[in-house]
Amino acid sequence: MEISQPLEELDWIPRPKIIALRRLGIITAEHLLTHFPRRHEDRHQFPQFPRDESDQAICLSGEVVKTSLRRFGGWKKIFEATLQEPNANALSQPLVCRWFNLHYVQKMIATGQQLVVFGRPKLRGKRLCMDHPEFEVIEDDEERSIHLRRITPIYPATEGLSQRVLRSIIYRLLQELDTEPIEPLLPKSLKNGDRGEAIRAIHFPETWESLRNARDHLVLSEFFAMQMLIAARRTESHARVSAAHGRGGHLMQRFFCSLPFDLTNAQKKVIAEVRWDMESTFPMNRLLQGDVGSGKTVVAIAAILLAAEAGYQAAFMAPTQILAEQHYSVLRRWLEPLGLKLSIRTAARQEESFLPLAEGDENADVIIGTHALLYEKISFSNLGLVVIDEQHKFGVAQRGRLTSREPAPDVLVMTATPIPRTITMTVYGDLDVSMLDEMPQGRGKIITALRDSSKLGEVLSFLRTQLEAGRQLYIVYPLIEESEKLDAKAASAEYERWRERLHPYSCALLHGRIPGPEKQQTMERFRQGETKALISTTVIEVGVDVPNATVILIENAERFGLAQLHQLRGRIGRGKHKSYCILLSSEPTSEAAAKLAVLEKTNDGFEVAEADWELRGPGDLLGTAQSGLPALKIGDLRKDAPLMRRARISAMSIFEMDPRLEWPENKRFRELIVEKQGRTFSNVS
Ligand code: ADP
Ligand code: MG
Repeated sequence: MEISQPLEELDWIPRPKIIALRRLGIITAEHLLTHFPRRHEDRHQFPQFPRDESDQAICLSGEVVKTSLRRFGGWKKIFEATLQEPNANALSQPLVCRWFNLHYVQKMIATGQQLVVFGRPKLRGKRLCMDHPEFEVIEDDEERSIHLRRITPIYPATEGLSQRVLRSIIYRLLQELDTEPIEPLLPKSLKNGDRGEAIRAIHFPETWESLRNARDHLVLSEFFAMQMLIAARRTESHARVSAAHGRGGHLMQRFFCSLPFDLTNAQKKVIAEVRWDMESTFPMNRLLQGDVGSGKTVVAIAAILLAAEAGYQAAFMAPTQILAEQHYSVLRRWLEPLGLKLSIRTAARQEESFLPLAEGDENADVIIGTHALLYEKISFSNLGLVVIDEQHKFGVAQRGRLTSREPAPDVLVMTATPIPRTITMTVYGDLDVSMLDEMPQGRGKIITALRDSSKLGEVLSFLRTQLEAGRQLYIVYPLIEESEKLDAKAASAEYERWRERLHPYSCALLHGRIPGPEKQQTMERFRQGETKALISTTVIEVGVDVPNATVILIENAERFGLAQLHQLRGRIGRGKHKSYCILLSSEPTSEAAAKLAVLEKTNDGFEVAEADWELRGPGDLLGTAQSGLPALKIGDLRKDAPLMRRARISAMSIFEMDPRLEWPENKRFRELIVEKQGRTFSNVS
């Protein structure tokens, strides 16, 4: 039998099972053999029943000596099966397995049966219980050896197929399969063992070590396929028609000289990387990562000046109106003295029409804007550079709208949302990455503290000392639906309360429903220091830069995600003064407390991101749908990061040497990408 054989052609698999498998998309032997176990149980020998409870799930086996069904609360039912361990003696304690309201379980279990159970033993009164354990009834037949006395695979639950049946089918498939001709999916440089062997061992490993090796092999294959796909995309985008959009560097030098500070080494390094891309004729596709406050705007301005000197226009897109306006005023300050013309486009400006529109754009060197840049007809006469700030606020498709035009502009996307490194290698794997991994000198420290809401009094007197010292504050509320009238009302009520609390210092209110120009004026007064405290929703989350603001108080902090809290905290610590982030929360759950404790511990965005990832556990963090990458079947982005790195290096070097995959030894990878992933590439197929 061959691996590509349809299961239908195998007469020993009963029809109903074939149909059940088909519902899961399992049609061929290969599909079934890559239906990988979720975990394994060591069933060589079962331990004695424990006497104490444990948080760790354990695997036990015993005989059912009693079953019972009890009712409680009217219609609810508990089914109990009492197990006795083998070779029970006077000291043995039975184990009670309990299932609540699971009708089917009671039909499957009867006295006298041998069960294997997997779960957490807990003491309930004097009894040792396991609630809702996974279980398997052991039958005394010739197949026993498949299920017992070995490291036994446990598969993802499948409707209409028991573990036992699935395991038996896979066992027999492996016996009949000729693994010799199974083609390895890995290049020589990554090869670790044999694919056929790995497929055997992932199901029925002889030892835990051989299981680990098999898994490594299969994860590496999966990651390699993914990285080949990414490398192909990258190669494709590099091949687009473009031009050199950077030249000279005189304007850029003049800008650096006019800055009141020296560039950090990280900024110099990143600017050199950007410049190299812009001076070459392939289109730049670069992701600039830098924690909040690391000085990304300077890098963006450098890129804009390189484009301007080469005679190209730049578009600068920001996710909020406040941020677009801030960039507009910062960029005007630096760029107008150098002779550049700037224009701005936001929906609010449009409505209020306080700026002449369309005419200005065509001869502007830089057009700054929000999403409005995407959806309006803007006549760029000679667009050479697109900068996207805080790119996580834009979807991939939105980014595409600006960047997919022909000829291809250079693209610089900037993000302050720390992204765990493995994700950068995948979701953003087709972009080149630059890192601002150094903060500018002379930044005041940020201290983060979690306080119970009942301590507001103490917090308040602390706020007043800061105000007396001349500093400014942000007070932030977790209004989730910015668009709802109700939230705006709540913010207004809070605003009144804060005005009393902070009297006589002047306060201002900021939220999404305030009309554009007013928002703008409020922000400007805060920037100028006229207003001392800004009571706000998360509209200030990204990018806002007011160095004299040293305190951010976040109410109901537990309602925000870690990444968002870190962003909010990034509003302070931008000047030379010591800054304070106060997280208010009333009686947070232990989960929420753990989350907030991360922020107390570290200011490093990457540590926050990794912790966030850990706390949230697995899940579609990848946003695979958004990235258009196939979902992972066996690899774990977090656990297997080193394997991802190896796969990436290998895939990149293959494309570097042989971009069209024409070498004989690379031909099979072309199939791997084009067929397996159902994608075609103009330069590959
Ligand atoms: P972000 O990376 O969060 O977008 P910004 O570009 O807004 O950060 O920069 C934050 C602040 O740091 C700004 O006030 C900016 O002028 C200042 N800044 C940028 N680079 C430096 C530097 N090398 N030394 C000192 N201050 C800097
Ligand atoms: Mg910024």
